Amino acid sequence: MQAIPSEFLAIDRKSRKYIPFFELDTRDPNVRVCDFLDVIIPLDEERAMLEASRCVHCPDPAACVVACPVHNDIPSAMWLIEQGEFVEAAKLYRKTSSMPEICSRVCPHEQLCEGSCVHNKMHEPVLCGALEAFVTCYERDNKGVDVPIGKPTGKKVAIVGAGPAGLSVAEQLVQKGHDITIFESKPSPGGLLLYGIPNFKLCKEVVFARMGDLERAGIKFVTNVYIGKDKTIDQLFEEGYQAVFVGVGSQIDAPMEVPGEDLPGVYKATEFLIRANVDLESLPPEMGTRPEIGKRVAVIGGGDTASDCLRTACRMGAEEVFCLYRRTETEMPGGSKDRKLAREEGAKYQFLTQPVKFLADDTGHLAQIECIRMELGEPDAKGRRRPVPIEGTNFIVEADTAILALGYWPDPIIGETTPDLETKNWGLIVADKETGATTRPGVYAGGDDVTGPDLVVTAVAAGRRAAAAMHEYLNSL
Ligand SMILES: Cc1cc2nc3c(=O)[nH]c(=O)nc-3n(C[C@H](O)[C@H](O)[C@H](O)COP(=O)(O)OP(=O)(O)OC[C@H]3O[C@@H](n4cnc5c(N)ncnc54)[C@H](O)[C@@H]3O)c2cc1C
Repeated sequence: MQAIPSEFLAIDRKSRKYIPFFELDTRDPNVRVCDFLDVIIPLDEERAMLEASRCVHCPDPAACVVACPVHNDIPSAMWLIEQGEFVEAAKLYRKTSSMPEICSRVCPHEQLCEGSCVHNKMHEPVLCGALEAFVTCYERDNKGVDVPIGKPTGKKVAIVGAGPAGLSVAEQLVQKGHDITIFESKPSPGGLLLYGIPNFKLCKEVVFARMGDLERAGIKFVTNVYIGKDKTIDQLFEEGYQAVFVGVGSQIDAPMEVPGEDLPGVYKATEFLIRANVDLESLPPEMGTRPEIGKRVAVIGGGDTASDCLRTACRMGAEEVFCLYRRTETEMPGGSKDRKLAREEGAKYQFLTQPVKFLADDTGHLAQIECIRMELGEPDAKGRRRPVPIEGTNFIVEADTAILALGYWPDPIIGETTPDLETKNWGLIVADKETGATTRPGVYAGGDDVTGPDLVVTAVAAGRRAAAAMHEYLNSL
């Protein structure tokens, strides 16, 4: 913890509860739905200092620090921001996070730091995410950001996958002086930060700026190389890499397995989001055009990806955009904040509805979706009530575009092409929770390819833990 005068806290803790709270400003839904720009209006210096001063500085360990997967020292950062020490606050975040400018924008704060804020008992939580975004942006604009480079060790590390997990390993190990090369199958690095999360949630300039920091630190990016197809992990060792980190995510769209899901007009969520959001020049060649969007767009699924698809479809000029979900809103896995924004932007929800068939018009293009009504049955193993079809309730929904946002599976190729690398559940890599060590000596893994689909910040945390273990391993060689 930073030194906060104890006499100050003793006097002030109670009165801080009564400092007024102002909600984050968002752009008018009617305006923002016409573009892909940021929805949130950033804080200014004055608002940031006032908001940070609402932190009551809970005794150590503060609940917000515990709830943050990278354990940012949020109370100390709040203290610095309150004093106007914005660059110092940003530096503090960089001690525990490899990409605070990104986590601050995309973390589900309501489930993490803000969800655990003691203010929730009576008031609104301190806006930890917006404050982290403000100071990291202030730092970049006013001082610049550099990744410190360690004294060269002569040790070579290969990282497979340039998503948050792989990038965090690189950011940590370059500071220890290791020579880092990242192999990435897509044309540009970034993983789902670039090829998944829509621009209105995460402006791509923020991602490119962080990538630039890593490039300036000497990290090498080799793009358009698919490890497992173009070369194997064994070949990386033969080329002289002494340790390998695998951070390939979990990016295969789960299929729906109903008739008609291959019809023109039916998209998988990832392809739809990538083609709609990414600059045309960064798109893989097979996806080089914007998706066609009809007048009536159905998004199927209940997670955050479904919200992203709904909001993207609203921005692409669809007249009606609606979500079909087989349970009720209470069981929806996606965050309520994104659903609120989606509703403001015009998306509608139909609950207890399960598509059973996609139907084509005379030209062979999607025209209708046959659905069945559902009811909730007994809870499943996770305690969520199972959706059960009600016989004889089939009905037709008109739709000329459907987007399947049903979750993600891992790509089994790394497990299949790497001897002695244990995998489970269709390809997830078996790795130690604390170190990322896999069953193959010298090979580490972390992020979505170990846990299944999760969060940016948990991938960052896994990458940083693996980097610490890899540094120890490299030193032992
Ligand atoms: C649409 C969508 C929206 C999301 N929104 C949020 C959000 O708002 N907040 C949040 O916290 N999380 C969000 N997530 C989840 C988050 O993006 C992931 O949990 C996170 O990106 C996982 O990081 P990762 O590094 O493990 O994998 P990824 O980000 O998936 O990166 C893996 C990288 O490896 C590359 N790769 C794959 N296979 C190979 C191979 N064989 N050889 C070489 N390279 C390979 C991929 O191209 C990719 O660049 C979202 C996910 C999706 C799909």
